[in-house]
Amino acid sequence: MDIYDEIELQDCPYCRGAGLLEEEGGWCWYVTCMDCGSQTAPIAYRTPEARLQAARDAAHLWNIGKVISSSVGD
Ligand SMILES: [Zn+2]
Repeated sequence: MDIYDEIELQDCPYCRGAGLLEEEGGWCWYVTCMDCGSQTAPIAYRTPEARLQAARDAAHLWNIGKVISSSVGD
């Protein structure tokens, strides 16, 4: 199954830009905004079985608005 096909992402809670699910170095997932660069905390996984759930968890954080704005300090 393709994780990217399964997971649906809402628009960015800050700028309404498009969210992008990203995998970092084979150990975690996070969602980042392609427009403003806001992102969720990374969701780590340790096993292949946990990988899909971690991707879902990262998407869930994004979809409920638990997103860290990159514009802090502006
Ligand atoms: Zn954004």
